[in-house]
Amino acid sequence: MDKHTSDVAIVGGGIAGITAAIELLNLDKRVAIFDRDKEENFGSLAKESFGGMFFVDTPQQRKAGMKDSPELALKDWHSVAKFSDDDIWPKKWAKAYVYNCKSQVYEWLKKQGIRFFPVVNWVERGLYVPGNSYPRFHIVWGTGFELTNVLISKLINHPRAVSHLKIYFERKVEKLITDNGGITGIAGINEASDVPFAAKARATLIATGGIGGNLELVRKHWYKPWGEPPEVILNGAHRYGLGDMHDEVELIDGMVTNLDKMWHYAAGVHHPKPTRELHGLSVIPPKSALWLDYTGKRFGPMPLMTAYDTRYLVERICNQKKKYSWQVLNLKIAYKEFAISGAESNKEIKEKKIFSFLKTILFGGRKLVNEMIETCEDFVVADNIEALVDKMNALTGENDVTIENVKSSINDFDANIERGPKYHNDEQLRRISHARSYRGDRVRTSKFQKINSPKALPLIAIREFILSRKTLGGIQTNLNSEVLKADGTTIPGLFAVGEAAGFGGGGMHGQGSLEGTFLGGCVLTGRMAAYSIADKNLIK
Ligand SMILES: Cc1cc2nc3c(=O)[nH]c(=O)nc-3n(C[C@H](O)[C@H](O)[C@H](O)COP(=O)(O)OP(=O)(O)OC[C@H]3O[C@@H](n4cnc5c(N)ncnc54)[C@H](O)[C@@H]3O)c2cc1C
Repeated sequence: MDKHTSDVAIVGGGIAGITAAIELLNLDKRVAIFDRDKEENFGSLAKESFGGMFFVDTPQQRKAGMKDSPELALKDWHSVAKFSDDDIWPKKWAKAYVYNCKSQVYEWLKKQGIRFFPVVNWVERGLYVPGNSYPRFHIVWGTGFELTNVLISKLINHPRAVSHLKIYFERKVEKLITDNGGITGIAGINEASDVPFAAKARATLIATGGIGGNLELVRKHWYKPWGEPPEVILNGAHRYGLGDMHDEVELIDGMVTNLDKMWHYAAGVHHPKPTRELHGLSVIPPKSALWLDYTGKRFGPMPLMTAYDTRYLVERICNQKKKYSWQVLNLKIAYKEFAISGAESNKEIKEKKIFSFLKTILFGGRKLVNEMIETCEDFVVADNIEALVDKMNALTGENDVTIENVKSSINDFDANIERGPKYHNDEQLRRISHARSYRGDRVRTSKFQKINSPKALPLIAIREFILSRKTLGGIQTNLNSEVLKADGTTIPGLFAVGEAAGFGGGGMHGQGSLEGTFLGGCVLTGRMAAYSIADKNLIK
């Protein structure tokens, strides 16, 4: 048995665990991090992430003339969160995030050396209820890959690292060690050598991420009003996001809440080079593409479109008998608008190549589109609607898609465009107009492009599945990140941060996110936990 001792044992080396560790070293605490993954994956999901972060009233926003404020942002947050009366800690964490994200996340990250794009993206604008009143999605120059690498470098090169920091990989933590109702450390197994280990610590911090990597758990906690879970759910989360530490916390009477509140994406496709079972990528659906149901009929009367309400998209798709969908577009639209969330699909930004990035803005993401057409099983391409429908049905092995449905969907939309902007009477076209009036969207949104237009062919159909990504619920914590029991008391020595804690309070998003709130939530909870372990307050 290997034995370790430190002031704080951190379980999980994602961005939440890493941030907490940096601050604990700053506060003169001895830290040991235990992660189940291999060293090359240190940083975890944040390293794969796109690096979009929700901030309020930043210099980028002010420069663009926005008059954003925490009051407005909190109102927007509540609008999509739809908190219940019981969500006491989630509401407190939401307020803490909105009021402190600029000073304690944005400015802190800038101090570490992170840079953000000058133009802020406008996502989750809201559909039936208000969403982001202003653009708030600030993109890290270098994506989540850079964000994570900068923080890892800060950690391992910290002046106290040699004396105060130990990091262990391939260590699966299996147990919380209890003594007198409190937690005194952890125990687990070194999966490389099969040797068990135990670590003693005055504080144990759970930073093991969400449960989205465990599709069985995703199905078990499926949001009931959406009926049965889809037959196919793709995995867009972490291979070790299995919920085992959530279970451990429940075993010692800690509260785990809101696990049925998941932030799934509606446009998942199979990863061409999967590293886990059912590994998926999340397509950012082109605004000019038509979103069709499993029979090839356009969703309506309210058409589906990205950037307004992600949860609504998932809900509509899950309302069908077969819970997947199609997007139909053409090569011209794909080149201009197609994108995939994550660092690996945004190489120009990830590698900070400004000229290559500007080229994709001007000439579109041709390389990514061509690669996906060639390698992703969910893409079919054809020169006419009949051939496209044949290929769609051949792909599923069922004859659900009808030529009549696809033809009338495309022809009606194209006819609307043909009538000219003054007579556009289609909600998608109205929203395209609105999107193009914002500088951040104009360059990547086509100007009323018809689908079946000879100069824009071939046609492309993309089969899209629900993709599991973020777990909005989690281990319930107070504003000190201490884990709570049902009676509201804390479990001495036990803390939780990041996605494991539902980004704070066991679900600071309620039902829905304004986006970019995940990475930021991990940084804020990580910092706040470190301060509270050192008996200090980060925020007033
Ligand atoms: C492709 C992609 C794009 C994204 N884009 C964005 C974005 O633009 N903006 C945004 O805000 N969010 C984004 N996210 C979400 C964000 O990256 C995550 O919510 C966040 O990184 C979670 O960090 P974490 O530290 O809480 O957990 P994780 O990153 O999941 O890390 C948890 C760690 O715990 C370890 N672990 C788990 N169980 C055990 C155990 N029993 N013993 C030991 N170790 C264990 C795991 O190995 C892992 O390393 C994206 C995610 C993905 C996948």
